[in-house]
Amino acid sequence: MNHPSKAGTPIVIAHRGASGYLPEHTLAAKAMAHAMGADYIEQDVVLSGDGVPVVLHDVYLESTTNVAHHFPGRARPDGRFYAMDFSLEELRQLQVHERSGPGEDGVEVAVYPDRFPLGPALFGIPTLAEEIDLIAGLDRSRARRTGLYVELKGPGLHRRGGLDIAASVLEVLAQKGYANRPDQVFLQCFDGAALRRLRHEMKTPLPLIQLIGDNSWGEDTDSDYDYLLSPTGLAEVAGYADGIGPWLSQIYLGRDASGQTRLSDLVPRARALGLKVHPYTFRRDDLPAGIGSFTELLDVFFRQAGVDGVFTDFPDLVRSYLDSQAGLAL
Ligand code: CA
Repeated sequence: MNHPSKAGTPIVIAHRGASGYLPEHTLAAKAMAHAMGADYIEQDVVLSGDGVPVVLHDVYLESTTNVAHHFPGRARPDGRFYAMDFSLEELRQLQVHERSGPGEDGVEVAVYPDRFPLGPALFGIPTLAEEIDLIAGLDRSRARRTGLYVELKGPGLHRRGGLDIAASVLEVLAQKGYANRPDQVFLQCFDGAALRRLRHEMKTPLPLIQLIGDNSWGEDTDSDYDYLLSPTGLAEVAGYADGIGPWLSQIYLGRDASGQTRLSDLVPRARALGLKVHPYTFRRDDLPAGIGSFTELLDVFFRQAGVDGVFTDFPDLVRSYLDSQAGLAL
């Protein structure tokens, strides 16, 4: 880089930080991503009950913190511990660990078994403001310029709880001097209504990325992803967003009988509408079917599909891949 907006140069987006090496969304994972040369570092944001933006992927706490142990009895009837049911002061009491889920015997096991161990209790939940201070501080001490890639999680859930996540995030960005830096901040969301509001009502100058999931995931959003992927839907997205963040399986479709890579027409269709394409999530330890190595995966997306950047848990590997391709026309 080191200019996030430089035309034609694909960007490395550190997905939840260098989350392949340290627990996601910890300040340690963000510092590591910075040191690894990520162009952008991602913040997933939810609000505490008292309305403070904190950096956390899930609207729930149980998969990455010790909430069930520290605050037993605070789950909702669905068994989940919602971040917005806790004050910032309570969230600060929690310890963050590597992402886990129930294993075969109901015992918690790591989702990615070869990553940072589950045990050590070294980390807490950062606020968005604290994380921006960390990145801005490292930018200064390392003489770099690193972008923020902020996702608004669950705008509908927050609204039903009386909270406005878009307004709260814009307020923090304004306080930290980032609200008018369109070459250094992306805002992303799965919810199209939230993005349209940011563009048309709140009139943010920051570039917006429409994330595209799969309807079968059953997420809490107003978005119909099949529609967004259709010609009509994608043209509508181009009316309020600057790019899309599709799931990588919406671009790479596998291999045909002769072993040739099969790609969808999503990238050229998005390009024709002037939309950037930043697919997720590139993981060395979770390769799609038909892909033999992480380098092969990157070849498919950068050299064949021609995407503008990728969300990755392994920013060092994508950085070194792109550096090795420097001079080649990607
Ligand atoms: Ca995200």
